[in-house]
Amino acid sequence: MKSFMVKRYEGLDAYTPGEQPRDMEYVKLNTNESPFPPSPKVLEAITGEEVEKLKLYSDPEGKDLRDAIAAHYGYKRENVLLGNGSDEILAFAFFAFCAGEKCIFPEISYGFYPVYAELVGTDAEKAPLCDDFSIDINDYMNVGKTVIIANPNAPTGMALSRADVEKIVASNKDNVVLIDEAYVDFGGESAVELVHKYDNLIVCQTFSKSRSLAGARLGFAIAHEGLIADMNRIKYSYNPYNINRLTLLAGKASIEDDGYFRKNVQTIIENREYTVRELEKRGFCVLPSSANFVFARKDGKNGEELYLELKKRGVLVRHFKKERIKDFLRITIGTREQMDTLISKLDEII
Ligand SMILES: *Cc1c(COP(=O)(O)O)cnc(C)c1O
Repeated sequence: MKSFMVKRYEGLDAYTPGEQPRDMEYVKLNTNESPFPPSPKVLEAITGEEVEKLKLYSDPEGKDLRDAIAAHYGYKRENVLLGNGSDEILAFAFFAFCAGEKCIFPEISYGFYPVYAELVGTDAEKAPLCDDFSIDINDYMNVGKTVIIANPNAPTGMALSRADVEKIVASNKDNVVLIDEAYVDFGGESAVELVHKYDNLIVCQTFSKSRSLAGARLGFAIAHEGLIADMNRIKYSYNPYNINRLTLLAGKASIEDDGYFRKNVQTIIENREYTVRELEKRGFCVLPSSANFVFARKDGKNGEELYLELKKRGVLVRHFKKERIKDFLRITIGTREQMDTLISKLDEII
């Protein structure tokens, strides 16, 4: 077929989500989902009556959920923006603050950043990581362009301190700094409280990882109301009803059930420390992770082969082909049983 795609997008290299194969039952450790179900309060909130109300549009302002998120983090509704996944928050931010302009993010980071940069037409600088895979904050000081940093970073799992994030934000007063905290609940230091102090900071988080709602598609940003208003203009130019009714209810029930959330996060952290110990016993080098995954390699082992051997044995992990990280595996932390399966399959292979 002739291509009808506009010229501008002929070369667009789209994001590749982690595989979701159906050929067999896998121990699925490849997309950083939670192994636990959402809070039981979520199920209680999705009543038959609410399902009947699907005939009506959802609240375009998402007031109840924004109020709940605002209350949880000590802000006002005007400081909160909801996204259909935090991916959509990222899209709004790239459109609002990067289109036709410049931005900078780490060379090894979330694979969606270069895609959005290409989509909106941004001159994107990709700053290399240090030898130990940490982010060098000096690369982001006073850069005169929009800064995007995942903290903890993906796929390394390594985190910057809040003090370092603040240095970056403070040195870029005339530009937006977006901190993507998709994994912050698993041990990072959140920059959310800095939003009180800086009007150029956007912190975005997601319900997909620590809140077990990946399939509901819900993310949010916390920022000065001026920045929220800018991103809202993009949202209302694109998809005003971006969050569906059931997800609005699920999100509110989830954020209000703090006990359940904390318990699950704590379990994942314990399982992570256990997994790190077991991997290290077997000679793996594991980057220090503050996330719900670890990034690990073993000397003399080819990353892609390890990934394929694990897949053959029913364990799915994520492998990236990028040269510098091609021997690493990104392994999501699941239940203790799932991690034991991973370890025993690794023992078979090695
Ligand atoms: C998972 C992830 C997201 C987006 O998740 P959503 O499911 O769209 O909320 C954003 N940033 C990073 C770094 C992620 O790993």
